[in-house]
Amino acid sequence: MSFKNIKVVVFDLDGTLYRDTKHFDYYANKIKEKLNKDVQEKYIYEYNQAVSGNHVIKIGSVYDAELDLVLYLDDSTVVSAYNWSNTEIDSSFIEEHYPNPIIIDMDRFMSIGDLWWVPSSIGKHYGLTGEDTYDAFLRTRDYMMTDSYDIDPIEGLADVIKSIKKKVDIVLMTNSPEPDSLVIIEKLGLKGIFPTRIFNAKKPVKTLARFDSICSQFNVKPTDILSIGDNLLNEITPIRKLGGKTIFIDFHGIANKDSADIVVTNLEDSFDMLKTLG
Ligand SMILES: [Mg+2]
Repeated sequence: MSFKNIKVVVFDLDGTLYRDTKHFDYYANKIKEKLNKDVQEKYIYEYNQAVSGNHVIKIGSVYDAELDLVLYLDDSTVVSAYNWSNTEIDSSFIEEHYPNPIIIDMDRFMSIGDLWWVPSSIGKHYGLTGEDTYDAFLRTRDYMMTDSYDIDPIEGLADVIKSIKKKVDIVLMTNSPEPDSLVIIEKLGLKGIFPTRIFNAKKPVKTLARFDSICSQFNVKPTDILSIGDNLLNEITPIRKLGGKTIFIDFHGIANKDSADIVVTNLEDSFDMLKTLG
């Protein structure tokens, strides 16, 4: 694997430039507060089961909020489906209800690409709307801005980014809003490091459009881009299909050998490769 033609590196923020997870419990609790009292306890139990991998909602699956099913896709085609009790659904049902490739819209079809989508999909199962869970998300981001929330920076990250900046353009692209992301960037000691920042990116729905804009802005082709992130559908699969290079931070162990050019558990495991860009 060589990154020698790379001209632009696109970094995700949450789960990529830091790996803390304590805010997910806070988020789950904010969602719980919006649920009917009689399901709150069950919701938290299921959330904890899902975090420990013992629930039908798993990283790498897709939740169909309309039919209340958990799907697995090959490309965009549904290949298997499970009900909330984790019982596999008959293939004839799949053929009837999902005859065409599905489009991930994060409303009916929610890609469970990282831990942000575990509490929200379970909340939806128990009757919440996308507005409810987004409000809980914003409350969580508010909490992450406070002094009581501290984040451990990844040692050496700032120096690695500074060294590659001399040779390539770097971009930060996150689904999170600007005010809280800027505070988190500062807490990570990365303030001022990213000249180009895209907030509220709406990945994966807008991933391809975003990469299109990046190509125009820097006058490069998709094959000149290296995308780094912890969410396969948001940051890896689409750019890989276009011929771009990818580093997938596979914290949950869902990757196979074709998932990305480089699969690591932690970002620092890719530092040696990244330094070759500088
Ligand atoms: Mg992420």
